[in-house]
Amino acid sequence: RKWVYTFGDGKAEGGAGDVDLLGGKGAHLAEMAALGLPVPPGMTIVTDACSHFYAHGRSLPDALKAEVASALTQIETMSGRRFGDAANPLLLSVRSGARSSMPGMLDTVLNLGLNAATVEGLAAVSGDERFAWDSYRRFIQMYGDVVLGLDHEVFAEILEDEKARLGIEYDTDMAAEDWRHLTGLYKQVIEEELGEPFPEDPQVQLWGAVSAVFASWMNNRAVTYRMLHNIPGDIGTAVNIQAMVFGNLGSASATGVAFTRNPSTGEKALYGEFLVNAQGEDVVAGIRTPQAITEQARRESGSDKPSMEKLMPEVFAEFAGICARLERHYRDVQDVEFTIERGKLWMLQTRNAKRTTKAAMKIAVDLVEEGVITEEEAVSRIDPASLDQLLHPTIDPRVSREVIGTGLPASPGAATGEIVFTAEDAVIAEDEGRKVILVRVETSPEDIHGMHAAEAVLTTRGGMTSHAAVVARGMGIPCVVGAGSMRIDLRNGFLLGLGVKLKKGDVITIDGTSGQVLKGAVPMMQPELSGDFARLMEWADKARRMTIRTNADTPADARAARSFGAEGIGLCRTEHMFFEGDRIHVMRDMILAESEAGRRAALDKLLPMQREDFTELFKIMHGLPVTIRMLDPPLHEFLPKTAKEIAEVAQAMGMEPRQLAERVSALHEFNPMLGHRGCRLAISYPEIAEMQARAIFEAAIAAGKETGAPVEPEIMVPLVGLRSELDYVKAAIERVASEVMEEGGLHISYLVGTMIELPRAALRAHVIAEAAEFFSFGTNDLTQTTFGMSRDDASAFLPTYQRKGIIERDPFISLDFDGVGELIRIAAERGRRTRPDMKLGICGEHGGDPASIHFCEEIGLDYVSCSPFRVPIARLSAAQAAI
Ligand code: ADP
Ligand code: MG
Ligand code: MG
Repeated sequence: RKWVYTFGDGKAEGGAGDVDLLGGKGAHLAEMAALGLPVPPGMTIVTDACSHFYAHGRSLPDALKAEVASALTQIETMSGRRFGDAANPLLLSVRSGARSSMPGMLDTVLNLGLNAATVEGLAAVSGDERFAWDSYRRFIQMYGDVVLGLDHEVFAEILEDEKARLGIEYDTDMAAEDWRHLTGLYKQVIEEELGEPFPEDPQVQLWGAVSAVFASWMNNRAVTYRMLHNIPGDIGTAVNIQAMVFGNLGSASATGVAFTRNPSTGEKALYGEFLVNAQGEDVVAGIRTPQAITEQARRESGSDKPSMEKLMPEVFAEFAGICARLERHYRDVQDVEFTIERGKLWMLQTRNAKRTTKAAMKIAVDLVEEGVITEEEAVSRIDPASLDQLLHPTIDPRVSREVIGTGLPASPGAATGEIVFTAEDAVIAEDEGRKVILVRVETSPEDIHGMHAAEAVLTTRGGMTSHAAVVARGMGIPCVVGAGSMRIDLRNGFLLGLGVKLKKGDVITIDGTSGQVLKGAVPMMQPELSGDFARLMEWADKARRMTIRTNADTPADARAARSFGAEGIGLCRTEHMFFEGDRIHVMRDMILAESEAGRRAALDKLLPMQREDFTELFKIMHGLPVTIRMLDPPLHEFLPKTAKEIAEVAQAMGMEPRQLAERVSALHEFNPMLGHRGCRLAISYPEIAEMQARAIFEAAIAAGKETGAPVEPEIMVPLVGLRSELDYVKAAIERVASEVMEEGGLHISYLVGTMIELPRAALRAHVIAEAAEFFSFGTNDLTQTTFGMSRDDASAFLPTYQRKGIIERDPFISLDFDGVGELIRIAAERGRRTRPDMKLGICGEHGGDPASIHFCEEIGLDYVSCSPFRVPIARLSAAQAAI
């Protein structure tokens, strides 16, 4: 077997197709090298070596040493330098690179190979002593942190002390001699802390770094990142070992990052940042505020620091050409890293760029128009879950804004919340149900939990590619970075901006679209779903097979869902209507009635209310199918609970509190989810089902007359386990149907079907289908009843299950394909055996979950139904599943 793949000088052993083997970074370095782009020569140790490392007590495969040695010889030949050679030393970078990119999560060491002898050689060949010692101190610092495990703060502190002692403000003012002195201090503290000297032998350094990269796969940051992004833990990282090129070799040298199009707006314009006389991580770390790459971007940002286009026109032209070529080659927008060493351009990384949803849509539509990709490819490229971002509110443009600071618009959307200054406070606030804005000088991977808990993030330092910006965009939360005019006074807990002094807990609003920070809360507007979004949705609608319906209980839900493109209602939960306004009193009269006659009297009052609700819904849906579920929850849900509530309700109803309390306790159930609910209510009290059926049919007639678009109601009987249950309820519905039709002198077609939410119903689907005209899979209850796990109580142990690896995903969020899915498969197949043209749909929470929608497509359901705001996600997911 082969552990090491090399690249350089227009050749490579691997390529873009080898991401699993070489990791993303290695595969694309190889691809760029093979394309003949200027890539420093290097090698990639395959990801399997990482698996080997963990499978064998953190040791490396025997054959690796020899393969690395021979690849290193090749790099030496290509670069014309020798590793460890005191006269003309080759320096290396040792870089991690997982299969899916984990920005900043795994560790990298630069300038490896420096020691007391080679640093002198480097100074001599470069003719720049300051550069050599700057590189050496950077190396000791990174190696000390990444490989030797010392806190990077230790080094930062020594540097600060030294600068203070010398009266120097900027790193750039440190002279060769100052760096040399600092290097000594660094080595000294390392020896004190670890009890042994900093390694001088380049081979020891190399293998230390390789092992450290493999070990970083399991560090806390990386583990958290994978958990949050659902990246499996067992796939490992590759290690890239590459000849160093130097952006810190004076004013004709620089380093930077760029996107081939704007990752925030999608605009077709090169977009990026760079720093003169700097190395690698300086740009991302936000140590100095970087400069724009293009003149256009510089003008737009109002910066007076010259752009790379202006400063280095020839290198810029070459770079712009390479970016265009990479974009064509990969047929997608790229995110690249580069370094310029004394006027010579080197490419250090390329990958498909992360982007905001808005940018993703614009780019996909533009690429179709440019003839680069097809409509279906465009549809496939949008992550359905990310559409959530678009549904973010924006600030109402008509209101006046009290701006207290401005930074870069790093991630779009607006959010309001209380100021918190630490990730911990953000997490606490979230637990208490408070909305907060995380305000930091800059963020680091340790802040990720806090960023998740916050509505938005504000930093006072850093650029568009800083940690805060990249992570917030990925999470889809609004973010403003580099608000340099604002100041955080951590010691006293203040945020200062434009003469305003705010403290922790004060409310601010962040506008991630304009970069503004506003005092207080501001009115928001819902986004407009036109333009690129509408076009992509049109293409998605062309590509999908399944229909998308919505779960809507109120006219407001129904209207929202229609505007998002719902093609009907898959679930209307009638009970929600009984909680509104005065209705709850009538409902209670009905429940508390001693006799059927008393119940009917109350139901007569409920009838017109239900009829109006349904008429309104039918009118909004204008002839589209509407599924209405008969009363489902246990009756005691409608009754008062505490003694105080009971006393109040009793008084209002002219009852003795004691009498009411008795009735309430008579209705109490030990296990209500498995109790007197669903069709069991309709069997105990058929008059309830009759009233609901009458309301539905009368509403259908009324709405049909008014709109001229008659609806075909689908009446759904919940919690059926036995065919005889359905028979009984269906007979009552049919009786009412013929009565109403006779009274109205009008025929309405309708369907009676059932929810499949009990395992018995799934297994007996062929028999139930003799009576049921459609099935709707109620996967919330079906998951509860299949697992025997209460949805409302599962949060007590499911997180533990996930942490201990007992279960991978929460089955209430993402469908359990193996168990619950098997029951759905069985029911669909058996139901259709009896009734081949039977309509099948899903109406649980899973109806809006992309992975579950793929499953529904696979087993041939006719529709999925989800909450209104998830309708666009479902339309796109259904299309991707069908493509
Ligand atoms: P990350 O995945 O965190 O971006 P990288 O391995 O890409 O880590 O590298 C960190 C930084 O070091 C980047 O800015 C990169 O451009 C720079 N870098 C990596 N390898 C080299 C090299 N051979 N020469 C110069 N700079 C390098
Ligand atoms: Mg990188
Ligand atoms: Mg249910």
